[in-house]
Amino acid sequence: ASMTLSRIGLAGLAVMGQNLALNIAEKGFPISVYNRTTTKVDETLERAQQEGNLPLTGHYSPRDFVLSLQRPRSVIILVKAGSPVDQTIAALSEFMEAGDCIIDGGNEWYENTERRMREVADRGILYLGMGVSGGEEGARHGPSLMPGGSYQAYLNIEDIVKKVAAQVEDGPCVTYIGEGGSGNFVKMVHNGIEYGDMQLISEAYDVLKTVGGLSNAELADIFAHWNRGELESFLIEITADIFRVKDEYGEGELVDKILDKTGMKGTGKWTVQQAAELMVAAPTIAASLDCRYLSGLKEEREAASDVLREAGMREDVGAVRSGIDKKRLIDDVRQALYASKICSYAQGMNLLRAKSVEKGWNLTLGELARIWKGGCIIRAVFLDRIKKAYQRNPQLASLLVDPEFAREIVQRQAAWRRVVGLAIAAGISTPGMSASLSYFDTYRRARLPANLVQAQRDLFGAHTYERIDRPGSFHTEWTKHA
Ligand code: NAP
Repeated sequence: ASMTLSRIGLAGLAVMGQNLALNIAEKGFPISVYNRTTTKVDETLERAQQEGNLPLTGHYSPRDFVLSLQRPRSVIILVKAGSPVDQTIAALSEFMEAGDCIIDGGNEWYENTERRMREVADRGILYLGMGVSGGEEGARHGPSLMPGGSYQAYLNIEDIVKKVAAQVEDGPCVTYIGEGGSGNFVKMVHNGIEYGDMQLISEAYDVLKTVGGLSNAELADIFAHWNRGELESFLIEITADIFRVKDEYGEGELVDKILDKTGMKGTGKWTVQQAAELMVAAPTIAASLDCRYLSGLKEEREAASDVLREAGMREDVGAVRSGIDKKRLIDDVRQALYASKICSYAQGMNLLRAKSVEKGWNLTLGELARIWKGGCIIRAVFLDRIKKAYQRNPQLASLLVDPEFAREIVQRQAAWRRVVGLAIAAGISTPGMSASLSYFDTYRRARLPANLVQAQRDLFGAHTYERIDRPGSFHTEWTKHA
């Protein structure tokens, strides 16, 4: 009983929880930790010792854990999303009181967070759904944090999260996101954007390797060079590093030995589902999700490569390759990647805005771009430009029409078309870059062939149409007039 109480608690000591707990302790906030399987408590205690005698105490029962905290209590939960979160809340909340707060740091579906918020509200317990990005490294040394829910609960931990988050020149990578499940939703869209970035980078790699004939050593140098310009970002940087890693089991580099089958945990799928629900076009993010699904069909693709003559494609690649200027191709791919990325972020930001309007969250898009500048997987110099675009005009209809982005994307058009055109001619797919280019070409056209679709709908379903030259809604007996 003479024990001093901890400032905050963390339950769930797998990769993310253990590292975030050590980060919090290192920033000088005494922390209590708990895990269902108690060996992880001991593991964390040991690391706290080794990593500088950090102020961290381990607890082996939910009761001891909760009672070791100062009131109002703040408890971060970092367990597997879904029912493990419900079970952990049930175990801990029994010992919590009105004014205490639960903070779920997992990649949770935002509606689960909103349900739990209502469930614990009966007992006066506050709730935050806090997106945490940056993987293991981020959690340990500074993640991007996206807390949403009870504002009072946020204020209770504001001093902690501001110190624990990644620090960039315009502040810590954390902000109060908004009410309800907004923190989880923003983290979900962050992950969807991450899918898009990774897909676009993999296409740049494919074009340079397959059409350009570049070696891994050349690719490493190119990505390292790109990382010193407008594409500077964590994902470009790690890509350069990946190309240099040798295979420990044989000749060459490891990247060539990795099975071409992508894993996923669901946040990209949720992003695309939400885009469809909200009727927001997100073709680049959707293309990256589709590519993960297609990558999973490894055996089917191997069979199809015989039936559909992949060998013939090699002749196409050969013909295209013989005509290209390598230096120009490299620079074109850089520009295509950048232009495609602008389209992908425009889609993600517009999805966030649509959800914000639906839910009344009042999301500040520029502020979201700011907290993604450090700590998280999509961190990039580019995000500062997005932040500034929304600062210039918070009502911006799309990033594409911000004067600076508009100028940049128009400048890169020719290179972008050359890359997509080359890929099409060579028979290699660039679904993300192509989707971005189509998005751009559709969005900027004042008149689309949608007039014909309206005519068809009116013909077969009497759905009516509007006219360009007079108000009102019209229906035509098409077959009579034909
Ligand atoms: P994880 O593998 O998702 O989950 C393991 C943790 O969940 C362990 O502490 C485990 O306890 C606990 N757990 C599982 N079922 C439980 C149950 N029924 N009751 C109580 N506890 C249960 O861990 P993680 O990778 O550290 O991720 C934690 C959360 O952060 C997830 O939502 C994840 O999506 C999110 N996230 C992960 C990353 C990443 O890079 N890994 C990045 C950002 C966000 P036991 O030890 O007792 O089994």
